[in-house]
Amino acid sequence: RGTVRFDNVQFAYDPKRPILKGVSFEVPAGKTVAIVGPSGAGKSTLSRLLFRFYDIQSGSISIDGQDIRDVTQESLRSAIGMVPQDTVLFNDSIAYNIRYGRVSATDEEMRNAAELAQIGPFINTLPEGYQAMVGERGLKLSGGEKQRVAIARTILKAPPILILDEATSALDSATEHEIQSALDLVSRDRTTLVIAHRLSTIIGADEIIVLKDGVIAERGTHTKLLKIK
Ligand code: ADP
Ligand code: ADP
Repeated sequence: RGTVRFDNVQFAYDPKRPILKGVSFEVPAGKTVAIVGPSGAGKSTLSRLLFRFYDIQSGSISIDGQDIRDVTQESLRSAIGMVPQDTVLFNDSIAYNIRYGRVSATDEEMRNAAELAQIGPFINTLPEGYQAMVGERGLKLSGGEKQRVAIARTILKAPPILILDEATSALDSATEHEIQSALDLVSRDRTTLVIAHRLSTIIGADEIIVLKDGVIAERGTHTKLLKIK
């Protein structure tokens, strides 16, 4: 379960400037579709629309054949997990931040998720800005570490549908390599929509969609799209 369909979706934040001019694609249950395209093309907008942060002007978006307009916000949020580019942590321990993915998780499940995301040693630390009553200072986490917290949270949540907004800026290449394996782990067998920047994701995706000027400019597997002419 977890097939996502965009059918002739048209969307504009401002009616004078259409962002999506009729976009159709499907992410079959368990598959990975990578969205690429220039900055401002509307890639992140697709994920906001799937969460129904905004309503589309025409077309439809469905999950397993059901229009998302007929799904409650609660079930949308439990069906979809997101690893955003910039994770904003709650002002509490890393353990708390991970457990937010599924508050009913046991300590052991929480620790396992933290291990898988390679953030295990941090679970009892507090993020920067947090000031415990004893006056202890929080730890400044790097962009990559915050992303690992988001990955651990998502591992714990285990949603059928996953949105990965891959950051290019937040990670150095060693961290990127580490994170890639954690991301592969979360997205395996899960319906995954990736806003892709990493070549490894693009190569591994079942389909690559090139979004440009509000339409799908090209689509296909990487062997088709990256073929040297
Ligand atoms: P991408 O992820 O491909 O870089 P986005 O989906 O973030 O692109 O944005 C697509 C376009 O929509 C951009 O031109 C951006 O400036 C505009 N945009 C994004 N969010 C808003 C918003 N909340 N209100 C108005 N315009 C927006
Ligand atoms: P959870 O995944 O724990 O259910 P939420 O339901 O609060 O978290 O939000 C889902 C995801 O959407 C979060 O990862 C959050 O970063 C992201 N998000 C929240 N608001 C916005 C927004 N306005 N635009 C884009 N992404 C958002």
